[in-house]
Amino acid sequence: MAQILIVEDEQRIASFVAKGLRAEGHQPTIAHDGPTGLDEAMSGRFDLMVLDIGLPGMDGFELLDQLRSQGSRMPVIVLTARDSVTDTVTALEGGADDYMAKPFRFAELLARVRLRLRQASEGTGATFDEELVVGGTRLDRRTRQVRVGGQVVELSAREYTLAEIFMLNPGQVLTREQLLDHVWGYDFDPGSNVVDVYVGYLRKKLGGTAITTVRGVGYRFSGS
Ligand code: CA
Repeated sequence: MAQILIVEDEQRIASFVAKGLRAEGHQPTIAHDGPTGLDEAMSGRFDLMVLDIGLPGMDGFELLDQLRSQGSRMPVIVLTARDSVTDTVTALEGGADDYMAKPFRFAELLARVRLRLRQASEGTGATFDEELVVGGTRLDRRTRQVRVGGQVVELSAREYTLAEIFMLNPGQVLTREQLLDHVWGYDFDPGSNVVDVYVGYLRKKLGGTAITTVRGVGYRFSGS
């Protein structure tokens, strides 16, 4: 589980990312401007940084430049609304490890966070939780394969992402809003019933008792 620094001035996006990372078991810290972000980044206590480009005080490009020139090798994933090729190249040349254009789904960011953390931990002996097991349900995060009682269950990409977030939080109630943010992204209509529909699909595939409805709150996963 990693200490992750989020440098983002837009409150809604910062808390969306922080909430999702917390659900994954990470410890996020938010900085809302460039100078604070740089100070935090230089503290040496973070494993990875998610960095916005348009920031008050000092933009993300300058922050990254200063960080690298002071010798920090911390993995950095740049978030930006400026999705032009020029900006991507500038960010990568400036020492970013990866790049995401807004708006994005949390699951996409998470895939990159995992990859960068794994690469950073190679050689340090740190391990990554590759397999999740809850009751009779097993989920392999390398092959993205789910088995129930030893039988492979075919899941769509969305169903897999939903199953994964449930299995990272066994026995805990996840709200519709948490599931919507995680699987569909913060720009998705909160009034949509898409979560209920997909929980229904997943229930059919994983067995009727795997997911319990907690009335008026959300859903709880306890395994097949
Ligand atoms: Ca911004």
